[in-house]
Amino acid sequence: MSTPILRFAPSPTGLLHIGNARTALINWLFARKNKATFILRLDDTDLMRSKQQYEQAIYEDLKWLGLTYDRIEWQSKRLQEYEKAADALKSSGRLYACYETPEELEFKRRRLLSQGRPPIYDRAALNLTTEEHDRFLKEGRKPHWRFKLMPEAISWKDLIRGDISFEGENLSDPILIREDHSPVYTLSSVVDDIDFGITHVIRGEDHITNTAIQLQLIEALGANSKDFTFGHVQYLLGEQGESLSKRIGSLSLRQLQEEGYEACALASYLVKLGTSEDISPALSLDQLINEFDISHVGRAAPRFSKNMLDRMNARLLRQQSYNHIQARLAEEGLHYIHEEFWNTCHGNIDKLMDLKHIWNVCTQELTPRIEDASYLEKACKSLPLEPWTSETWIIWTQALKEETGRKGRDLFMPLRQALTGEDHGPEMKELLPLIGREKALKRLQGKVA
Ligand code: GLU
Repeated sequence: MSTPILRFAPSPTGLLHIGNARTALINWLFARKNKATFILRLDDTDLMRSKQQYEQAIYEDLKWLGLTYDRIEWQSKRLQEYEKAADALKSSGRLYACYETPEELEFKRRRLLSQGRPPIYDRAALNLTTEEHDRFLKEGRKPHWRFKLMPEAISWKDLIRGDISFEGENLSDPILIREDHSPVYTLSSVVDDIDFGITHVIRGEDHITNTAIQLQLIEALGANSKDFTFGHVQYLLGEQGESLSKRIGSLSLRQLQEEGYEACALASYLVKLGTSEDISPALSLDQLINEFDISHVGRAAPRFSKNMLDRMNARLLRQQSYNHIQARLAEEGLHYIHEEFWNTCHGNIDKLMDLKHIWNVCTQELTPRIEDASYLEKACKSLPLEPWTSETWIIWTQALKEETGRKGRDLFMPLRQALTGEDHGPEMKELLPLIGREKALKRLQGKVA
């Protein structure tokens, strides 16, 4: 078998969000698993909405996620190819000129719907005489062009959804060329997929009907639709099964990166979400590639939960060795976190940046919170001598318990407040050795230390 070729084809009209990212990941993992070529195709033919800044963001966000590609293609550089394809379709009678205005089309659509019929274009333009064409053109109307679908059954075996079938006559002839001559995605995508020798098209489920149309278009352009395998990735839903469309902006890769998530935790979560696999983090993308099996990607729409992502992130950090995390620490400006500190604290953080706070509590000056000075005085006296381990806290508080009769919150909270200035935080048995005896004594005495 020749090398498979895949592509991820975002439009640079906005930031990549978790839905796009999931499609990109599944594409990429499938490509890497199958030693395929992976192309990043920028669907930038919409000149009004495509922006350089979004293109740049796509490069950066894919890089952050770790998704590499073998080459980039820009649709805006291939307009001539689309025109050639349109000419060929015109010559073979599969592309026909239409003159209806948007208002006229809307009127037709409503009338059909009110009759309880599907809003399929009536092909009125196919019956225009030469005189009528001329009259429209003289009136200054510019044609848009529709692809004439064949009234045939269309079916394919979808990589993710299994057997799918459509009847050509139940579909509306799609517009391929707009009034301003610009090609519609339906055409440009097929031209590229044929020219680039794409073997597997993995994309969002909003393209299922497009696939039915494009299978006929592929044949009409002289290629073999059997050379293509399609897979449609489901939309993500919110935690309660609600649509994410309104919130999707705040679930951009950019935003999640800024919120301090590890790319690999997000990747693990997005890939395993909705699969039958255990939702546990992979420590690297290589591990995800090894584990990846497209047949595990379910058909039902998976639910995305930020809480689950948080847990995934925390689990990933808990499993990371110091060696492995060092580069990330440096990236976050946390180069001062040494191995011992990492080993002590990484089980207690949700995000890498949480370390900064713990570091500050352990090493920088803070004002202790003193609510019961006499109890803290006793605590000072029974504070064990160094060297300290994670046992020290237990030994110390056990002794205090016996001495004072305190227990639970009364026993622990005043110590935490004095030692950290806070009510909450990582486990004190881990923090205490990092704070050290000298600082601890001062803080228990209410001194800034
Ligand atoms: N630009 C299209 C999208 O983002 C690409 C779809 C495809 O992969 O064909 O939905």
